[in-house]
Amino acid sequence: MDNKVAVVGTGYVGLTTGACFAHLGHQVTCADIDVSKVERLRRGEIPIYEPGLEALVAEGIASGRLIFTDDPVAAASEAGFVYLCVPTPQGDDGSADLSYLEAAARQIGPHLQAETIVVNKSTVPVGSANFVAQVIGRGDIQVVSNPEFLREGTAVHDFLNPDRVVIGADDQSAAIRIAGLYLGLPAPLMVTDPASAETIKYASNAFLAMKLSFVNAIANLCEVVGADVSDVVLGMGYDKRIGHDFLRPGPGWGGSCFPKDSRALRYMASEAGYEFGILDAVLEANEEQFGRVADKVVAMVGGDIAGVKVAAWGLAFKANTDDRRDSPSINVLRRLVAMGAEVTAFDPTVSGPIPELVELNIADDPITACQGADVLVVLTEWDDFKWVELDEVKAVMSTPRIVDGRNLLDRSLLLRRGFEYDGIGRH
Ligand code: NAD
Repeated sequence: MDNKVAVVGTGYVGLTTGACFAHLGHQVTCADIDVSKVERLRRGEIPIYEPGLEALVAEGIASGRLIFTDDPVAAASEAGFVYLCVPTPQGDDGSADLSYLEAAARQIGPHLQAETIVVNKSTVPVGSANFVAQVIGRGDIQVVSNPEFLREGTAVHDFLNPDRVVIGADDQSAAIRIAGLYLGLPAPLMVTDPASAETIKYASNAFLAMKLSFVNAIANLCEVVGADVSDVVLGMGYDKRIGHDFLRPGPGWGGSCFPKDSRALRYMASEAGYEFGILDAVLEANEEQFGRVADKVVAMVGGDIAGVKVAAWGLAFKANTDDRRDSPSINVLRRLVAMGAEVTAFDPTVSGPIPELVELNIADDPITACQGADVLVVLTEWDDFKWVELDEVKAVMSTPRIVDGRNLLDRSLLLRRGFEYDGIGRH
């Protein structure tokens, strides 16, 4: 039995999976149809910003355990495990678009060695293990669900120190073979059926999205009752049943997973005859939150933002990643631009105009972004922003006003330095 691992799709999940499996001692081939991406990876260049990944890829290349190809069929035909890590974006109706998954499975199916295990690592709806098995259409190939829970920004750490490894398999021996790939990781390993494994992934993401929307709603409540959300969440988080994680209010949640996965779960539930009312409310509350932060900026400049110079810190959907897919920052700034604001933004991972909001001017550093600005809005919680010299910010701004959409900066310090300040849930 061949124990080589093929990874099909080398994005945030596939590249991390491949590099980490190589680090754990497995022989891995990462395949992608994006030829230029593969060329860069072969040179050891990482096409994404993900702390620790470059070193791990370099280690894998040097050890000979990690290689890259633009030929997924060749990679899959030599492997005992084929990890599908292709995109599953949101379809027009909110469902998960499985066309990449289907295309990859159709392409590799006829070329697999007997007894190869195909693994859905992409986030896919209930029934997708069966779906891929049908597309492949071979009795000698098992399809297993092994969802990924890593977070961008800490992907390598999360993969090597998971809270749990979930394996959804109808066949015990297939589950045991997959479990063998994770030997040595300090994590509970859970074997269940594919439908439960697929549900665990969506339920986990939707729960975290709900937690964030809940805390944003509490922040909004704090503003009207005169409480301070920072103290409120601290007091809540000490309760072990609640915990401190995901209790930080912000400009709404986004990224490449929560929005599409929450909508896919709602669609999946509805198709199955269950109306998931809580999830409707969570999605609605999130849209409102983007609007609330944009409104704070408008209110701070007196109610009319047309022609107003806005500085923005942060474009990525969260700190420590360059991923801007469904970024709350972009959502908020799009609203301000639509109202006529002139926005200059800085993000440590962005060096030029961004296609999803071409109207943005991009600055090379946080101070330049603030040059002549009437208001600064903080939208991504990059640590770097905490250390920017506030006197310099004040000196270059036309009026020293800050809307802190992440409660990142020191409010008392800003007030002492003469800034007008508004945060989230902190009136
Ligand atoms: P991504 O867009 O970063 O990467 C996907 C890669 O697949 C791209 O490089 C693309 O060129 C490649 N690809 C597409 N079709 C292919 C094919 N037929 N053969 C070979 N390569 C192909 O996506 P991602 O963020 O890594 O997400 C992948 C999956 O993992 C999605 O289902 C996502 O929901 C899930 N997931 C993502 C995260 C995350 O934080 N990004 C976390 C957990 C799960």
